[in-house]
Amino acid sequence: MSTIKTGSFDTDNRSIQSISAFENALKQFDAAAQILKLSPNQIAVIKQPRKVVEVKLPIRMDDGRIEVFTSYRVQHNIARGPAKGGVRFHPAVNLDEVKALAFWMTFKCATVGIPMGGGKGGVIVDPAKLSMGELERLSRRYFAELIDMFGPDRDVPAPDVGTNPQIMCWFMDTFSMHNGDYLPAVVTGKPLEVGGSEGRGEATAQGMVYCLREAAKHLKFDIKKASVAVQGFGNAGSNSAKLLASDGARIIAISDVSGAFHNPDGIDIEAALKHVSEHRTLNGFETTGKAERMHDPMKLLELPVDILIPAALENQITHSNADRIQARVIAECANGPITPRADEVLDKKGTFIIPDILCNAGGVTVSYFEWVQNRMGYYWDLEHVQSDLKQIMTRSFQNVLSTSLKHNISMRVAAFVLAIERVTRAAEMRGLYA
Ligand code: NAD
Repeated sequence: MSTIKTGSFDTDNRSIQSISAFENALKQFDAAAQILKLSPNQIAVIKQPRKVVEVKLPIRMDDGRIEVFTSYRVQHNIARGPAKGGVRFHPAVNLDEVKALAFWMTFKCATVGIPMGGGKGGVIVDPAKLSMGELERLSRRYFAELIDMFGPDRDVPAPDVGTNPQIMCWFMDTFSMHNGDYLPAVVTGKPLEVGGSEGRGEATAQGMVYCLREAAKHLKFDIKKASVAVQGFGNAGSNSAKLLASDGARIIAISDVSGAFHNPDGIDIEAALKHVSEHRTLNGFETTGKAERMHDPMKLLELPVDILIPAALENQITHSNADRIQARVIAECANGPITPRADEVLDKKGTFIIPDILCNAGGVTVSYFEWVQNRMGYYWDLEHVQSDLKQIMTRSFQNVLSTSLKHNISMRVAAFVLAIERVTRAAEMRGLYA
């Protein structure tokens, strides 16, 4: 089975390399399906991905060599609308992971009521090792190879780990050139100059903050007095740190692929952002910022904080470290950062988890706004985007919370209960073709 290649070890002696993100996703589905008492027919139609494609991408490198990269696109479910989901460029991408990420997209869109289905793509590559020219050729080849899958009414990609607005722009340009029309709605997360939306850059983090504000009201704590640790300092993580710091929270630890940095008095997030814009990663921040490098970056997750924000990759909190997690609230900006076994441990401890399919849905929500604006050809200002995002995230949080309280189930299971019900209803109304 394909694997995730990050992190340490689970106590059942399986390394994280052997934890299947897709198996974990299916376990989450099963827990909610049991509550909904879904029939085998209902489960058969929505549990597994509808389309899975692997394609090799031969790319001419700058030195004249041809290198062949492996890539994937998975459409999990399209009952509620076109497939929607990012494309990841990372050395640890594998089919199991892309299937899991596509699965979560289906139920994320349904949790927040976005009329789209679930998809995800990935290329096995370390984008930091490519020149701009190589990255552009790889991006265009990926889109061209899979062009029949994509389209504003078929499947609409967006950025994920290792991809960015420039790559979305190359995707859009490749599709538009093939079709002979300007078709910005084929991809979201584009730069503003070519049909991007105001607020898309920080949308994932902004949506998480709206959820956290609701959680703070429910749990009766003050975000201004909260301490926070953030794992991952890319789009989701750095914007989370920035927004929470501007809300008055104390960010005591941050990390990225180069290491973790800790200051119990609070890290200067503007200084960290400046460091990353100059040096690509946080490496060296122990000298430019007032923060100590942590010996073991995974220990960031175990710091005594009020709020922990995993914003990197899957399977970071497992059965082996779950009992050492001290955070009162975990806001999952990353997809799948907590394994089901770890979930059980955290549930018993009373940790309040805002699950990924709710917590990080601000990204896909503003992607949906971008798609709507592209199709109208009329663009909203930031205030309009943020006001609609706030309304959707706040309402979705409250729906999940009331489902959780009504059935006495975790926020994660509650989100899946709501989402699976919506996808099942749509699939049944559409019926089976042929
Ligand atoms: P990104 O590429 O912008 O950033 C990823 C960050 O994680 C980088 O700072 C990288 O150095 C760091 N990282 C990688 N491995 C790490 C490790 N082992 N420990 C600590 N840090 C590590 O990606 P992103 O878009 O911010 O995505 C991060 C997570 O958020 C992913 O799980 C993604 O699926 C999820 N997410 C992103 C969006 C979005 O709109 N960007 C939306 C929803 C969910």
